Formats: sequence, C-alpha cells, structure tokens
Amino acid sequence: MSFSPQPGGCVCAAVRYLLTANPVTLYACHCTDCQTGTGTSFALSMIVNREAIALVRGEPERHECRLEDGRVKGGFRCSACNTTLWGAPARFPNLLNLEAGTLDDTSWFRPAGHIWTRSAQSWFALPDGALRYETQPDDMLPLVQAWKSRHAGGG
Ligand SMILES: [Zn+2]
Ligand SMILES: [Zn+2]
Repeated sequence: MSFSPQPGGCVCAAVRYLLTANPVTLYACHCTDCQTGTGTSFALSMIVNREAIALVRGEPERHECRLEDGRVKGGFRCSACNTTLWGAPARFPNLLNLEAGTLDDTSWFRPAGHIWTRSAQSWFALPDGALRYETQPDDMLPLVQAWKSRHAGGG
C-alpha cells in the first residue's frame, strides 16, 4: 500500500502544498511555548522529510524570533494570513515540522504520542495507548516506531 498524497495549506489558501510521503512521526506537544505560540492547547507536530512537501501555490515566508530566554524559534508562514505551516528544525536539516492541522483531511492520523504532558491543560484527557512523556523525550525513536507500526506501508 502506498501513501496517498495529502493536500494542505494556510487558512486564506494563498499557500497550498502537497504532502507526498508518509510522515516520520506525529506527536502532540503540550509545552507552554506551544500553548502560547498557537494560542490553543497543544501543537500537533508532524515530522516529515523535507522533500515530502511539494509547494503547489504561493511561497511561505521565513520568520524568526528570539524568546526572552535567548532561544530562537522560527517557522514558515503565509505572509497574508499568518498561518504557520511548518518549522525547520536547525538540528535536523532534512526534516520539517509540519503543523498537522494545516492538512485538509485530518481524519487519517492520530498522534503516536504526547510530550510535555506535565504542562498539559487540566481538562485534556490523554488517549489510551499513546506514548506519553512528562517533558522532552531524550530519544524520539519510540515515537517513530509507534507511528510506523500504526501506519505500516503509509497512508
Ligand atoms: Zn494564507
Ligand atoms: Zn512544544
């Protein structure tokens, strides 16, 4: 079974893309940066190979900012509507951190795990069977493997 390409884009549709290959993994991050940065409860981070994103329309702009503690956060967003589409982690130049909520169809995935659960909002019930980490996992491999076992062969 092969992965069926998944279209996505920003809220104003100036930027459209196609995810062409099965992601590496997907996890929800409940850290306070993600809560504040998204204005919601957690970020949905879909780790994908850089070549797996094909731009169909528009060009997201790079933005970067320095946090109070000196860390630099960056991402690519639509310059018209400000939707952040993906981050480009400096430590992993071959990967992108796709904001999974920008995919048109979100029915086919479930996060392999939840990280920074110690700061998860109190109403949120962690789903049974998902990996969970109180803070940042030292090793992402279990998340990669859990994703793979659920989405064997892609799609
Ligand atoms: Zn837009
Ligand atoms: Zn986070």
